[in-house]
Amino acid sequence: MGTKSKKKPSTKKKSAPAKSKTAKSVRTAKAAKPAHAAGTDPKRIAAILANLDEAYGNATCELKHENAFQLLISTILSAQCTDVRVNQVAETLYKKYPDSQAFAYATPGELEQDIRPTGFFRNKTKSVMGASKAIIEEFGGQVPSTMEEILTLPGVARKTANVVLGTAYGIASGVVVDTHVLRLSNRLDLSRNEDPEKVEQDLMKIIPQEKWIQFSHQLIWHGRRVCHARKPKCIECNMESLCYAKDKTI
Ligand code: SF4
Repeated sequence: MGTKSKKKPSTKKKSAPAKSKTAKSVRTAKAAKPAHAAGTDPKRIAAILANLDEAYGNATCELKHENAFQLLISTILSAQCTDVRVNQVAETLYKKYPDSQAFAYATPGELEQDIRPTGFFRNKTKSVMGASKAIIEEFGGQVPSTMEEILTLPGVARKTANVVLGTAYGIASGVVVDTHVLRLSNRLDLSRNEDPEKVEQDLMKIIPQEKWIQFSHQLIWHGRRVCHARKPKCIECNMESLCYAKDKTI
């Protein structure tokens, strides 16, 4: 009797660690993220692109402009600001400052007030005037049309460069990664990076180059209209069956 009663607890003690070890390894397996986004299967990408075409076949840049120079200036002004606000400011701005000469030799304090509603107006004034001067002095008055050259303009990084090259010149040098493209690329598991330039590199590997320009516009439109940062309207999303984002609302 005494021997039996000693053996029973010892069996339980042995099985308990075995169970917790298994549970732990399952948890570890679930928690481990693959180094690369798992949603990049070519068939899935093709389905996402088809759905974007279906929903936003006519997506374009929403910054109003009449030429590459105006688009460059408006894109610089759009940092941390809505396109709607930039378009409001642009309506009078381009009448007062019709070309690169007018911006390059503006009175800084006056230009600051003219673009003040777009925020960060002191830095934006420096960028706008610096870029305008460089366009006149280095590029004969034309906004350059290569990535290498356009990146030399003050205040111009890859996002602005891609907007101008893609929309004004139809040159697919990369993918515009703004706040919407960044968020949606993560939600759709096209990239697990947070840095816009790394996300762009991921997207350039999986999206056909002939789709880069339109894909950027379409993701931006989807982010503005349906896949909002806080409460995405998943019930209205035609990619819902392809999406397994943690913050889906259905
Ligand atoms: S299902 Fe929801 S989270 Fe996923 S892409 Fe559509 S709107 Fe965004």
